[in-house]
Amino acid sequence: MTRRPSKHLAPPRPLLSAYPRAAFKADGRWIVQTMPGARAAKRYLCPGCNHPIAPGTPHLVVWPEAPTPGSERAVDDRRHWHRLCWERRP
Ligand SMILES: [Zn+2]
Repeated sequence: MTRRPSKHLAPPRPLLSAYPRAAFKADGRWIVQTMPGARAAKRYLCPGCNHPIAPGTPHLVVWPEAPTPGSERAVDDRRHWHRLCWERRP
C-alpha cells in the first residue's frame, strides 16, 4: 500500500483546469490542454485562422489521441489554437 500526500497539502486548483481532456471532432478524437497566458512564452501560429497567437495569450494545445502516420508520439503532432478557433472547428 502506497502512501499518498494529503489532499489538504495540494495547491489550490486553478479555475481553468490544466489537465488534458478529450475532444470529439469530425476527424476523430483529440486531446486538448489549456495553456495559461503566463506559460505561453512563445508566438505560435493558429492553424484555424493562420494568425499568430501572441506571447502571453491563454490558448489551447491540441494533439491527436492517436499518432498520425510518420509520428512516433501523438504529442509530436500538437498544435496551438485560439480557443474560439478550436471551438468553431467542426
Ligand atoms: Zn485562430
